[in-house]
Amino acid sequence: MSRETMALRVDRIRCDGYGMCAELLPELIALDDWGFPILRSDIVPPTLLDHAARAVDVCPVVALRLVAAPAARRDARGPVPVRAK
Ligand code: SF4
Repeated sequence: MSRETMALRVDRIRCDGYGMCAELLPELIALDDWGFPILRSDIVPPTLLDHAARAVDVCPVVALRLVAAPAARRDARGPVPVRAK
């Protein structure tokens, strides 16, 4: 059975920089000088999915999310422009 490719997203407005996510998932999350997360890669390899889910669960302000990778890519690009005919 194949698992859907998942990606991490950080809500930078909600994030309070506690840094717990980086402690639990250092393979994918580093911290900047102020303790806010920097994603090394937003795509979560299947081998790290359980760790990523745990990092999401412990975020005290629900700022970290796991989303399906195609949706994550749409989010990153923003709305698709409509071409005039
Ligand atoms: S655990 Fe949540 S609040 Fe803390 S740094 Fe990570 S995303 Fe931000």
